[in-house]
Amino acid sequence: MEHPYLTGEHHQFRKSLRKFLEKEAYPFYEEWEENRIIPRSFWEKMGEQGYLCPDIEEKYGGSETDWGYSVVINEELERVGTGLIGIALHNDIVVPYLTSFGTDEQKERWLPHCVNGKTITAIAMTEPGTGSDLANIKTTARLEGDYYIVNGAKTFITNGIHADLVIVACKTDTEIRPKHKGVSLLVIERGHPGFSRGRKLDKVGLHCQDTAELYFEDCKVPRENLLGEEGKGFLYLMEKLQQERLLVAIGAQVASEEMLQDTIDYVKSREAFGKPVSQFQNTQFKIAEMATDVEMGRAFLDRLIGEHMLGENVVTKVSMAKWKLTEIARNIATQCMQLHGGYGYMEEYKIARRYRDIPVASIYAGTNDIMKTIIAKNLGL
Ligand SMILES: Cc1cc2nc3c(=O)[nH]c(=O)nc-3n(C[C@H](O)[C@H](O)[C@H](O)COP(=O)(O)OP(=O)(O)OC[C@H]3O[C@@H](n4cnc5c(N)ncnc54)[C@H](O)[C@@H]3O)c2cc1C
Repeated sequence: MEHPYLTGEHHQFRKSLRKFLEKEAYPFYEEWEENRIIPRSFWEKMGEQGYLCPDIEEKYGGSETDWGYSVVINEELERVGTGLIGIALHNDIVVPYLTSFGTDEQKERWLPHCVNGKTITAIAMTEPGTGSDLANIKTTARLEGDYYIVNGAKTFITNGIHADLVIVACKTDTEIRPKHKGVSLLVIERGHPGFSRGRKLDKVGLHCQDTAELYFEDCKVPRENLLGEEGKGFLYLMEKLQQERLLVAIGAQVASEEMLQDTIDYVKSREAFGKPVSQFQNTQFKIAEMATDVEMGRAFLDRLIGEHMLGENVVTKVSMAKWKLTEIARNIATQCMQLHGGYGYMEEYKIARRYRDIPVASIYAGTNDIMKTIIAKNLGL
């Protein structure tokens, strides 16, 4: 049975969300891709309907739902297109830092706006000179009186242009060893002096996803915007990266399911040499292989989501799911494009966009190579 952790209420919620997306997202997605951005008005509509951060406490505007609702939201957004991943990042990656490590005052100040869509969030770890090697970041935050003075640059930041609130990984101690003990998280807000945005980056795929460079030049950040404790930023990142990687795995699985179904429909309708393309043995074998990968991926993923919702330690398995499911999706994109023939290379067919969008899933949230180093380490190697 698929999604064993979902109840009738989750399924009802999925129906309403799908209806909402059919009205507010599907008809506009191509336009957003062309504009290279999703309008803020869509975020606000998501907020009005309760689709942003539903798991947050009621006193901050949320509905205190379980993570099954997040799974439904992420699956349905992925069905529209991977370019909506910035919303998943807001709901299930950035805001959880605020709920887990924020003070009551910080939560009161920020969370209600994250729920209603007026505040869009981002997380900035990666720098022009370092991505995988996070302990080596160069952005510094020096405490002077009541302010941190932040200097540095970040790149590839999802929601970078829209972001009103950015959790920025900085070095508050550049001397300490091991280096990761010098990393802290600061919440930098739109309007803080010295905070500016660079280019909106031009990507191979995910065209409507807003990805940007951020700059901090003697940026003055109030001391009370420190998230959690100084020097614990790296530990916080390692804790929260699990859910981020699980989200990427969920997105990849849904993308695989979508590409496979689209291709099954296509090969049944397209004819060559007097019969449907689905009648060739090569087509059948390719589809059979992909369907097997999709089925096995779904079984592994569903078990993993269930374990994550029970709060179990899933670090190794999440790393496995992240690399394997993104690689399966990449392979499926290639095979499905081939089975579409020339039409697969045309923008009007969904497989073309999926083919462009999927490779980055092997790169962000920790590259697949990094996933394998984690697995190997946890196997005692
Ligand atoms: C579309 C997009 C959105 C993104 N969104 C965000 C965001 O919101 N916030 C954010 O902070 N970052 C974001 N990133 C950055 C992303 O997380 C990094 O690109 C990623 O972590 C890899 O870092 P890097 O690009 O510096 O590659 P590098 O670290 O330079 O890696 C280059 C190559 O070396 C390999 N490599 C590195 N170290 C090892 C090792 N120890 N063993 C084996 N191989 C290794 C890598 O696997 C890779 O193949 C985004 C990136 C993209 C493309």
